Amino acid sequence: MNKQHERTPQGSATKRRTAGRKNFDTAPTIISGKNYLSSYLDDCYHHTCLSLYQNPPIGEIGLEEFEVWAIERLKILNEIDSALKRNKPFQEIELIVLPMLNKSLPLILSKDQDKNTENRRKDYYSHFILKLCFSRSAELREKFVKCETIIFKVRFESMSGVEQRQFVQHMNLPWEYITSAEKAEMSQQLYTSIQPSLRFQLNLTDEISRRDYFEKEEFIKIPFEYVPELISSRSVFLKQGHAFVPKFQQINLLTLEFTGNLQKTLISTSHAFPTLDEEDRLIPILNHLGAANNFLEDDSVFDELMNSEVNSVTVKSTKITRNFPLCASHLMDGLTSAHHLKYLARKQFSLFLKWIGLSVDEALKFWASEFTQTMGMDKFEKEYKYNFRHDYGLEGSKIKYKPWDCRKILSQPRPHAGEYHGCPYRDLSKDSLKAQLKSMGLKDEEVYGVLEINSKGDPTASCTKVLELKTNGLVNEIVTHPNLYYDRMRVYHKKLDDTEGETAAEAES
Ligand code: SF4
Repeated sequence: MNKQHERTPQGSATKRRTAGRKNFDTAPTIISGKNYLSSYLDDCYHHTCLSLYQNPPIGEIGLEEFEVWAIERLKILNEIDSALKRNKPFQEIELIVLPMLNKSLPLILSKDQDKNTENRRKDYYSHFILKLCFSRSAELREKFVKCETIIFKVRFESMSGVEQRQFVQHMNLPWEYITSAEKAEMSQQLYTSIQPSLRFQLNLTDEISRRDYFEKEEFIKIPFEYVPELISSRSVFLKQGHAFVPKFQQINLLTLEFTGNLQKTLISTSHAFPTLDEEDRLIPILNHLGAANNFLEDDSVFDELMNSEVNSVTVKSTKITRNFPLCASHLMDGLTSAHHLKYLARKQFSLFLKWIGLSVDEALKFWASEFTQTMGMDKFEKEYKYNFRHDYGLEGSKIKYKPWDCRKILSQPRPHAGEYHGCPYRDLSKDSLKAQLKSMGLKDEEVYGVLEINSKGDPTASCTKVLELKTNGLVNEIVTHPNLYYDRMRVYHKKLDDTEGETAAEAES
């Protein structure tokens, strides 16, 4: 690690423990005028823009890079996870993920070798850092393998044919491209073996297009034990212990190799994790990364909202409530019908409202206007005012309380009858949820889609799908926080309002 970035305030004992400690024994050195790190990464990426991440990273990085790079990759993994949960096909996921990869973890090779090395370092390190984070439970390992495999496939598909071939050749697999003469010799058998796949997998419905495709297709010769699935589905030609696999199937073989390797190394990482002597340096960062889904780590997200126009009256207007996630709408419904909320619901809603821009004075007016419909002002002031002021850090310990994220909301006791806290995607019956979704303006087929996702038991996946539907597919971000949902809806509606305003102005002029 680069010591200028070390964050070890615990004193000299810590400094002694970390001083001189390096991540790996091998630090980059200059060999024969060529940077060793650059050469090492060339090998790890097989001189292309794809890696199987088989060797440990080398060289030093700062703690800041350690954290920032991992968070950037984590955002991409979360997008993939969210898309997978919403049953998106690979082609759609690819459209979301490729631009993110090109922006945050670009691996497109350029003539500038230093730039290539820097990009690869970031990609390589971020993969291994998250491998550490995700190795800690079977569920996390499974998620990591699924998401990293998608990244692998997206990158492979974006490579040119020449690069793909180069990558396969460098992988040291027992594969071999057959020559044109060999292909001509087995032409009939090869065509017969792949014809059903051309028809049903690649959707080539007429014979002429299938023949055309076959003429251009390359074949790989591989020991038959590598392709048991293709053999059992009789979709590959076998001869003398070898299977002849068309190139369009090779991504499946590569994926098997990639996932097998990743699963093995994740297990060995999980075994090594308890012996990691990093309590003072890396473990806190890894723990933080584990919680990096927490949208609220970044207070700046709310700066703009704190200056917004939400007040005791507008907070109940459609302009504001149309941005609410279902949990907030449910709380507002409960409050306006019962003119009271119990402790957990008050806390959940009060903090949510605070962070969408409701100031303390306006909040007190808002809560009083509801509560005093069933009680006197005296009682409100004596029994409730203090708690609302407390939420704003004006009483007691004067802590700047943050609103609850989905994880915190879901960790609270489930609501009983007459209680409104919690997450409706988890707590409402199927019929009540269906009614709520319809009242949000979703079409019948959209409601059924959300209910199907919800039946899998992940409320945030349902909420994410609703956010996507409500923004016409423009927001594909995983919902981890009610205020995140609110913010994305608010931005979406603002853009929509601006566009409509411009169109109306044009029509008038
Ligand atoms: S998933 Fe989160 S934001 Fe959505 S309704 Fe549940 S608690 Fe609210």
